[in-house]
Amino acid sequence: MDQTFVMIKPDGVARGLIGDVIARLEGKGLQLVAARLEKLPEKRVMEQYREHLEKPFFPSLRHYITSGPCFLMVWEGKNVVPVVRTLVGATNPADAAPGTIRGDLAMDIGRNVVHASDSPESARREIGIHFSPDNLCSYRRADETFLYE
Ligand code: UDP
Ligand code: MG
Repeated sequence: MDQTFVMIKPDGVARGLIGDVIARLEGKGLQLVAARLEKLPEKRVMEQYREHLEKPFFPSLRHYITSGPCFLMVWEGKNVVPVVRTLVGATNPADAAPGTIRGDLAMDIGRNVVHASDSPESARREIGIHFSPDNLCSYRRADETFLYE
């Protein structure tokens, strides 16, 4: 099964949105296989956002991401990477469609509640930054035969 990395950022944690985000992904039919609440060390923030290190917004992004604990998760499901990106919505919450996490729950690009991997390659890389293979739980959802044809 495909896997992706999803992280509720410090604004989402501080605003009490962990349960809402999890409920949306669980309700869709995705399966949570790892989770941890943690204040990210600088080193892993740099690895996580390596493609943005030279961007003008990186200093404020780094400050924001390390301003409090994040809730780190690995989710599993068919085509989970694009499925989660669709549920998360556009990077700028002002452009994010209603019904999406950012469309429903956020106002500003610099406070957009969640991170989700943008490709299967990024997902593998990002999961590897934050989790070891023995952190990932293997089990079956009881409704699996009703979720998949
Ligand atoms: N970001 C920002 N200002 C920008 C662009 C991005 O603060 O102009 C932050 C924002 O938190 C975003 C993250 O940097 O979620 C990573 O940017 P990316 O383009 O990868 O967006 P995402 O994949 O999160 O939708
Ligand atoms: Mg991105």
